[in-house]
Amino acid sequence: MKVIIDPTRCTGHGTCAQLLTDNISLDKWHFPILERSKLREAHFDLAKRAVQLCPELAISIVEE
Ligand code: SF4
Repeated sequence: MKVIIDPTRCTGHGTCAQLLTDNISLDKWHFPILERSKLREAHFDLAKRAVQLCPELAISIVEE
């Protein structure tokens, strides 16, 4: 599975980066930088939580 961020929806809350530290960092304006889209199996639950908590519905998880 991999994580996708829609930059047209994201408003830079940063919750996703706090949950998915292996995949997402923040730039100096607190917008996410997708360092690695592929999710480790151990992080699937965290990724699902990031999807649920993103206030802009900007994160998706998709099968590769
Ligand atoms: S949680 Fe959503 S709105 Fe916030 S930085 Fe991540 S993708 Fe953007």
